[in-house]
Amino acid sequence: MTAPAALPDLGAYRRFVVAFSGGKDSLAALLHLLSLGVPAHAIELHHHDVDGQGPTFMDWPCTPAYVRAIADHFGIALYVSWREGGFARELARDDAPTAPIAFETPTGIGRAGGNGPAGTRGLFPQTSPDLRVRWCSPALKIDVLAAAIRNQPRFLDGRTLIITGERAEESPSRARYATIEPHRTSTLARAVDHWRPVHDWTERLIWDAIAQARIRPHPAYVLGWGRLSCRACIFGSPDQWATLRLVFPAAFRRVAAREAASGKTIHRSLTVTQLADRGTAFPAATLHPDELAQADDPVWSLSILADRWTLPAGAFGDHAGPP
Ligand code: SF4
Repeated sequence: MTAPAALPDLGAYRRFVVAFSGGKDSLAALLHLLSLGVPAHAIELHHHDVDGQGPTFMDWPCTPAYVRAIADHFGIALYVSWREGGFARELARDDAPTAPIAFETPTGIGRAGGNGPAGTRGLFPQTSPDLRVRWCSPALKIDVLAAAIRNQPRFLDGRTLIITGERAEESPSRARYATIEPHRTSTLARAVDHWRPVHDWTERLIWDAIAQARIRPHPAYVLGWGRLSCRACIFGSPDQWATLRLVFPAAFRRVAAREAASGKTIHRSLTVTQLADRGTAFPAATLHPDELAQADDPVWSLSILADRWTLPAGAFGDHAGPP
């Protein structure tokens, strides 16, 4: 395992909030936290449901259930949060404010926002590192976590360490992220730091940590995806769109139809159908019927511990995804 470049004083924190997508990097970050002796009762997983608890539009149907199965396996609390109506509602916004955020808390569901200025979207986010135009990441993830923290008084009591799994290897913009810094929700009254414990890890180290723990990777990796983004991520490569069209045709059609209705392509110049035409479906996508069925099922039914752990086909493969 790597020697942590900047290990925070873990004893200084009251709670450890892992922003947990269910992807390999946030999973490795969680495993690392546990390996450092942080007790499960001090950790909480926070997962952002991109489709806002509504019908599947962009994300993998199984992801919330996979995340819950991981939390249950380790006996760690899980709090799910979402923008009401998710991606589809924000995309359809027409002279209306962005929807409120809902977040699970230890005592129920909290709500925040929803009273901003009226505006209109209608277009998919732009495939840009600039979060002002790539609106899905802030609207459905970053702002959702921030609202969940800012609107719970319990975060005023003791220091909080937020843990995320970005890695320098993933992109030049991620390479520039600090390993540890004050979190955007930190104030004089609310002490919140942000640690990226696997920032300098290679993908090999990530998979080694997951293999050692024998945790079953999310089905996306087994089917050939190299990263766990939304299933229909706007940054999808031609091969990802070709695979989606082959094995999840209804999901592909939904996005293709919405793209056509918007009058503008997600990609700079090609429709998702033209992208799929240029790609080749991942061979693994049709070789694992159990994972294929699980991927499309909002109820988790596979074991979380693998009897015989094997590196998934997507490892070291197609890394298209948000920069
Ligand atoms: S995974 Fe892709 S589509 Fe989903 S929120 Fe992130 S950038 Fe947007």
